[in-house]
Amino acid sequence: MKITNCMVNRIKSPVGYALGDPSFSWTVEDAVGKKQAAARIEIKRDGKTVFDSGKGDFSSLGTRLGVKLLPRTRYTWTVSVESDAGECAASGENFFETGKMDEPWAAKWITEPEVCPESSIFSKKFTLEKGVVKARLYICGLGLYEAKINGEKVGDEHLTPYCNDYRTWVQYQTYDVTPMLKGDNVIAVELADGWYKGRFGFKYGLNSVNMYGKTRKLIAEMRITLADGTEKVVATDQTWTVKKSNIVFAGMYDGEQRDDTADTSANANAVLLDEEMAPLADRMSLPILAHEEIKPIALITTPKGEKVFDLGQNFAGTFRLRVHEPRGTRVHVQVGEVMQNGCFYRENLRSAKAEYVYISDGNEHILEPKFTYYGYRYAKVDGASDLKADDFVGVALYSDVKDAGVMTTGDEKINKLISNIRWGEKSNFTDIPTDCPQRDERMGWTGDTQVFAATACYLSDTLEFYRKHLRDVRAEQSRLDGAVPIVVPSFLTAKSTSVWGDAATIIPWALYLMYGDKRVLEESVDSMAAWVDYIASIDGSDHGWRRIYHIGDWLALDHPDCKEDTTHGGTDEGYIADVYYMHSAVLTSKAAKILGKTDVAEKYAALAEKIKAGIKQDFFSADGRCSVKTQTGLTLALVYGLTDSRAQTLADLVELIHNSGDKILTGFVGTPLILRALSGEGEDKLAYKILHNEEYPGWLYSVNLGATTIWERWNSLAPDGSVSSTGMNSFNHYAYGSVGQWIWECAAGISPDESAPGFKRAVIRPVADAGLKNVDATYNSAAGVYKVAWKYIDDARVSLKVEVPFDCTAKLLLPYAKGKKEYELSAGAFTLEYTLE
Ligand code: BGC
Repeated sequence: MKITNCMVNRIKSPVGYALGDPSFSWTVEDAVGKKQAAARIEIKRDGKTVFDSGKGDFSSLGTRLGVKLLPRTRYTWTVSVESDAGECAASGENFFETGKMDEPWAAKWITEPEVCPESSIFSKKFTLEKGVVKARLYICGLGLYEAKINGEKVGDEHLTPYCNDYRTWVQYQTYDVTPMLKGDNVIAVELADGWYKGRFGFKYGLNSVNMYGKTRKLIAEMRITLADGTEKVVATDQTWTVKKSNIVFAGMYDGEQRDDTADTSANANAVLLDEEMAPLADRMSLPILAHEEIKPIALITTPKGEKVFDLGQNFAGTFRLRVHEPRGTRVHVQVGEVMQNGCFYRENLRSAKAEYVYISDGNEHILEPKFTYYGYRYAKVDGASDLKADDFVGVALYSDVKDAGVMTTGDEKINKLISNIRWGEKSNFTDIPTDCPQRDERMGWTGDTQVFAATACYLSDTLEFYRKHLRDVRAEQSRLDGAVPIVVPSFLTAKSTSVWGDAATIIPWALYLMYGDKRVLEESVDSMAAWVDYIASIDGSDHGWRRIYHIGDWLALDHPDCKEDTTHGGTDEGYIADVYYMHSAVLTSKAAKILGKTDVAEKYAALAEKIKAGIKQDFFSADGRCSVKTQTGLTLALVYGLTDSRAQTLADLVELIHNSGDKILTGFVGTPLILRALSGEGEDKLAYKILHNEEYPGWLYSVNLGATTIWERWNSLAPDGSVSSTGMNSFNHYAYGSVGQWIWECAAGISPDESAPGFKRAVIRPVADAGLKNVDATYNSAAGVYKVAWKYIDDARVSLKVEVPFDCTAKLLLPYAKGKKEYELSAGAFTLEYTLE
């Protein structure tokens, strides 16, 4: 028996994170026993025990012990576990380290003497007379910063200090810089525009600039423990100097410009900031790291004579480009997602310049943008001579969520779809869950986030990523009487609509189911209630909520005037709004019940019943027929239990689907749910048929046209490969990738069981499908690793292997097996061959 995955707040060895009452979690592998009999957690500081839980019944999903932590302190911890078979195992020593917590800062915010487009470099020299035992840098720079000590980059993170509502909280990062220091040192911090400052957001359309601040700002505090035990503090103040950098422009949408001929010699003194800043907070953002390096599959010379690197994969990130050109040469890189007529194309990026401009100093360089990112597959390079394919490499940047679910099937096209969904996630986890990574948008559209969250939890360990996002949601709500803006962080917009705003209830609930961690509900229950109360205030006594503007079933294909660039779907938006109002009330009630807030639970349960009665009265006949006859309308009726006649509603839905040639017409509301609705009613066969459909509209239509990510629209490309419209058309929008949840629930058959969330108990309902031929799925859940593999032995027989992790149980359901259809599984491996009915 061994203990694995020891984490604090679901992060391995966190340093400087907001830990609160830290949550300790672990998994157990290779045990003979099936259950945990007892666990014990010990925490030490400087080798001395500061907390010993003693043996007890502590949850491996996350145990909080009420330990009071000190700021800037490293703790070590171990967990030991006993199994029901009498085995014992202890983890190795793990650690976590606190940040400054509420400790006051010795450092002061400083800024530039004048606002300029060029990035600026703040620096300070300092000497250490003694050897260094320990050194930490606590730092935040706005818009974006990169710190160097003695010429070397501090840490491996990108786009720090990340993106949030800077009016409410400002995150700083903590770095262990011990090995970087010597006798004479210089710390240099480069500041550029970014989310905080510069062009970003859409409140004023293309003119949205400086939404959170007009000037760049820096605060940095280095705490150095010297060999003689004394502490030296190097902190920002007016003695720091500032000069211009060779990065002469940087922006999130427009890219970066570097001029190596620029004169950057003039130095000035930094200025103390005379402005009230939001409180600095220990970080919650996971690091954005450089992940895959993507080598070009071709260097194309197009019919227009353009030199274009094809990376073979659409993604978000930057690149490295080797150049060696005479002094003064201008090298220009532009990126795009698709080619048109064999030539470079980027019309769908709208106003985003998404470029990199370099003026050469005559030397050889490896260029790499640092204060921007791009969403692209193709890079056109002008001005560089003798380009070779290996001069360029793409660098994928995304928040460091660890892989959780990996699945392969016997159908290569479905495997490609699964890969495209994962790349959709990677490309849109840039600290905030974004809609797209390429055009002049890249914002945290709450609807997109909401529909994809469950899928993301199958693909990777997203708990902390979304916890940080939920903090942003709460920050906005606190300024907007509970309303949840359509984008979070809002960049000062305030609009709110159904399905999008319901992210405030749906995401905490999804996280609770997938990770079994009550912290999320504790943190969010008031925000969930505030959102429902906000809707109630608009709804009044005459259905006001139905009547305001709603985005609705965005991009569905069933609007009566549907054209290639249609945005609104055909499903009654008032109906959708009410259904989600009800659903949010239900989730708020459930969350309150779990937290023991009985009054709150009853209040929202009663409200949900009232809303449901209203929906039934206005949108259903007395015998249970739903009058909202669209794929999405009927799907919602089934998924949210609105119909008294499930059989009739299902029959209506199936008929509608048949009428559209067994193809999907749904938008952002119906797409995540329609296959789940069908499977929920035993129509798995039809669900699989829709999944396998290769014609427009359908998931494999895009795969057949060469997609490497999920498109925004079912018709982002027309069948002849031409871009169907440019007003709003991204090739890397993960919303329709939300089918991933159903693929996991049906093809792998793995779902959480609400009675023991976080996969302490699972429902395993793998539905064999001749089109898939076989499935091999591994899900690294919060509770441990589940495996499901099935394959056809012949046309009528299927072999199945299931593995349930230690301390977990599962109900196995085989609805299409002849004979026994239900099994109760405990931890361990289970194999079976069964005959299909
Ligand atoms: C975004 C979407 C978003 C939608 C809602 C678009 O511009 O890219 O994904 O949810 O607007 O209006």
